[in-house]
Amino acid sequence: MCGVFGIHGHDEASNIGYLGMHALQHRGQESAGLVAVDEGKLRRHVAMGLVSDAFDRDVLARLPGRTAIGHVRYSTAGSSELRNAQPFLFEYAGGAISIAHNGNLVNAQELRAELEAQGSIFQTSSDTEVIVHLMAKAKEPDVLGRLQAALRRVRGAYSLILLTNDEKMIGVRDPNGFRPLVIGRLKDAYVLSSETSSFDLVEAEFIREMDPGEIVVIEKGGMTSHRLPPESVTKPTCCVFEHVYFARPDSLVNGKSVYRAREKMGMRLAQEHPVEADVVIAVPDSGVPAAIGYSRESGIPFEMGLIRSHYVGRTFIEPQDSIRHFGVRLKLSPVRSIVDGKRIVVVDDSLVRGTTSRKIVKMLRNAGAREVHMRISAPPTTHPCFYGIDTPTRSELVAASHSIEEIGRYVTSDSLAYLSHAGMMTAVGAATGGEGYCSACFTGEYPVALGEGSLVQLRTSRVAR
Ligand code: AMP
Repeated sequence: MCGVFGIHGHDEASNIGYLGMHALQHRGQESAGLVAVDEGKLRRHVAMGLVSDAFDRDVLARLPGRTAIGHVRYSTAGSSELRNAQPFLFEYAGGAISIAHNGNLVNAQELRAELEAQGSIFQTSSDTEVIVHLMAKAKEPDVLGRLQAALRRVRGAYSLILLTNDEKMIGVRDPNGFRPLVIGRLKDAYVLSSETSSFDLVEAEFIREMDPGEIVVIEKGGMTSHRLPPESVTKPTCCVFEHVYFARPDSLVNGKSVYRAREKMGMRLAQEHPVEADVVIAVPDSGVPAAIGYSRESGIPFEMGLIRSHYVGRTFIEPQDSIRHFGVRLKLSPVRSIVDGKRIVVVDDSLVRGTTSRKIVKMLRNAGAREVHMRISAPPTTHPCFYGIDTPTRSELVAASHSIEEIGRYVTSDSLAYLSHAGMMTAVGAATGGEGYCSACFTGEYPVALGEGSLVQLRTSRVAR
């Protein structure tokens, strides 16, 4: 769960980078960083917290140059501390290089152990650093060759932006294309970003998505496209959860509008699981498009029955259970005049531990709801993600060990129903069976073999029935 942004060839590179990161803030709120290059020197600023807290005018003024890359982070590998904040900056025999990574490598633990045994000294606990060490050890003469050699060894999810001291900006999307990465133009400058939402903010024109397994090198003469080593090219499996929850609804992901995909999920949900009710409400913000779809399909009016405070972060983000429980009330409150005496359909995009739904049902009943019907616009989350979405261990995923009826009793709703896997895939425009997408969090079918570390986690997390 991270966002990456880069701009090459613009007089205000770090200012644009700052804005681009703003529009990716939903992808990570733990730390933010920018690296800019000027006359062969890379300068870096990273800080914990939100983009608006991490940067001010003075900080940005200390990052001169026409090319910059940025990163917003939420840790899925490596702990939450400043030394793990990206972009990283390293010096090696090939020069200075900076790297920003969205995704998660599944074999980082093994590679790190191997590199450490050979004498590498790691500065962070992040999986990303493995790529830089592999590049430093590679024998190839140029940065592209070193990068290709390094990526031949790693497995998993990586959308990367790199920046060199000779002002090359390099974008990489892993062979499966798990995480998004898009290319745009801002006048003569090139921009790379996790999501098109940042292009709209900086007024860049969307050119295209990077292909899975593609490397683009952007330098003074323009952009060239290269491939990852052919032996690593596999079938594309973009993350379906980007559409379900993670990406911003105003972005295009995998060629599709995230808003429209969510709306269709809601429409399908209404077809699959209709219910007699007076009003459809959403769990804001991520549940809103699906709730609108449910309302449109069912003919039951949509209302804003829950109001979200925008001054607290996403509740899931807080690490401690005690805070998360409190956080739901801090974040959401019911509108009594909409809810009182009514039969309510509540649409949320996903149900992970069940904590949020349980609190919401209670909240709505306290506000006078006569019936509360939970509808989830994705299938039950049964497996953890090892490709870069923050999901708890298997034992904490309520659907890993409980039937839908049991979960319904836990959340105390009058009914609970989920969108089917086929319904979700139809909504994102995939063929039945989900060709082209990774939906391992709903099926347990991991498209890239997991490394030892991830397998241990899967095996050891007890699933009690
Ligand atoms: P839970 O209370 O654990 O069932 O969490 C469900 C809520 O968390 C839903 O409202 C989702 O929109 C949201 N959610 C689902 N996945 C994530 C995630 N990876 N990070 C943050 N929030 C999430």
